[in-house]
Parts: sequence; C-alpha cells; structure tokens
Amino acid sequence: MLTCKRIIFSILALLLISGAARAENPVRVVTSFSVLGDMIRNIGGNRVDVTVLVGPDGDVHAYEPTPAAARSVSEAGLVIVNGLGLEGWVDRLIKASGYKGEVAVASTGIKPRKMEDREKNGEIVTDPHAWQDLDNGRVYIDNIAEALAAADAAGATAYKAQAQAYTAKLAELNVWVKAQFAAIPEQKRRMITSHDAFGYLGGAYGIEILSPMGLSTESEPSARIVKDLIRQIREEKITAVFIENISDPRMIQQISRESGVTIGGELYSDALSKPEGPAPTYIDMFNNNVSKIVAAMKKSL
Ligand SMILES: [Zn+2]
Repeated sequence: MLTCKRIIFSILALLLISGAARAENPVRVVTSFSVLGDMIRNIGGNRVDVTVLVGPDGDVHAYEPTPAAARSVSEAGLVIVNGLGLEGWVDRLIKASGYKGEVAVASTGIKPRKMEDREKNGEIVTDPHAWQDLDNGRVYIDNIAEALAAADAAGATAYKAQAQAYTAKLAELNVWVKAQFAAIPEQKRRMITSHDAFGYLGGAYGIEILSPMGLSTESEPSARIVKDLIRQIREEKITAVFIENISDPRMIQQISRESGVTIGGELYSDALSKPEGPAPTYIDMFNNNVSKIVAAMKKSL
C-alpha cells in the first residue's frame, strides 16, 4: 500500500515537473473563436498557449482577419477551427500566413444539421453552430485532445486525462439541462433569437427555434419575414424572445415592441462573454442560456 502511494506520488510529482517545464515552451495554438479557446485551455492546461482570433462577444461570421492574425497563424504550432463553414475566412488567412502545419477541425465526426436558409431562397445549407448541443461538445473535446496529442506527444496522457475530466462535467451539465427542459411541455418549447444559432440546441432538447435572420449574421431579413414572425408571436403567444451577445439587438427590440412580448434577456450564441460577464466559459454559456430560456418559456405556462 505504501509503495503504491509512493508510486502515485512520484507520478504526480513527475507530471507537475513536466507540466511546469512545458509551460516555458508551450504549444502555440491558434483558434478561431472564444468557445473553442475555452475548450482548448481546459484540455491543454499550461502545456498550451492559446490565441483566439474572434474574442468574447465577437462575431465569427463577419470577422475580417488582420495582419496580426496572419502573424499569429504563421507562428502557430497547431490551428484548431470549428469547421462546417463557420469560418468562411480561414482558408484565405492560412494561405496568406504561409502556415503549413496541422489544421484540426473540432466538429469532425458530428452529425451536421442541414436546413433551409430563408435568406438564401431556401437553399439547403449546413448549420455550423454544432457546439450548442452538449453531445457534440463532447466530440469537440475528443478531437481537441487528439489534435493536441499529435502536436505534443509528451502531453498525450495529460490531455487525455483532462479531456475525460472535462467530458464528465459536460455529461453532468447535460443531465441538468435535460431536467430543465423536461419541466416545459413540448408544445411550449419555442423561442426566437435574432440569427439561427440554436438549431442544435433545439434538436437536442426538442425546442422549435424561429429566427428572422438566417444562419449567418451578415444578411438583413426581409420586412415580410419580420412581419410574419410578429404575427406568429401574437397568435401563438410565444414568450421566449432573446437578443444575442454577438448581434445587433435592434431587430429583436422592434419585434418585441410590435408583438408586445418582453425580451427574455441575452443569450450567448457564437461567443462567450468577457470574464466579468455571465458566460465566460462554455459551461457558463449553457448555464446562462438554459436558465434564461426556461424562465421565459415558463411565462407561457
Ligand atoms: Zn452564428
């Protein structure tokens, strides 16, 4: 027993030493947006130095890479993106930077959600917002751990252990989320957000999502779409209407005024909040969003 304890202690000491040593020469990981940045820090700990191109409250759809971004990418040891068409700008950025290393796609292996994009005349497009389903989040974590291990083989065990611990937290969170939505009858699980970022959340928890904008934030919805939505809110007495941290609140404010429904607060869709805000991590993002959505839906009961 004593020997066993001693061995465990030695392993822990070694891990600590190697971790500390690594912190002086961490893997430079460049990633596209804040949600991935948080996941990578959770898995990589002090073995990674993460640069996030589109930070808190930023709009990853509309992002325009800067010369500083190209410099960061050129100096990266690993680039991690979401994929599914979220970062329309990333191929050009990587080409311009001269980076020749690995580009890991965090969403690899998830089941992509296809939908009609009203802003593109009903064209079938892939929804990139896969992180809004916690089961997909677990796939992201596996992919990130694998990519980090490939870039830094000495850290493989540490990445795996941290990925497992983090995945357990996500599983626990998912139990809570399911219990929250279970308290709302399915026909009352309807919500409105400015752009279509919550389709995966809707798919996972049986929520119908209505958005005046399409999958991206870059198009203006037609007056007809907004008018139809206002009528629908009135007729169907929808109470869950939200602004998002990354997009202009004015359209939702207009919808709120004209339909007489109170805005249920701010949801974090494509970016985390700043550290002092309510959603500085992926887990906080879910806590914030689910609490607000459920509270607003309960008004319709
Ligand atoms: Zn989006």
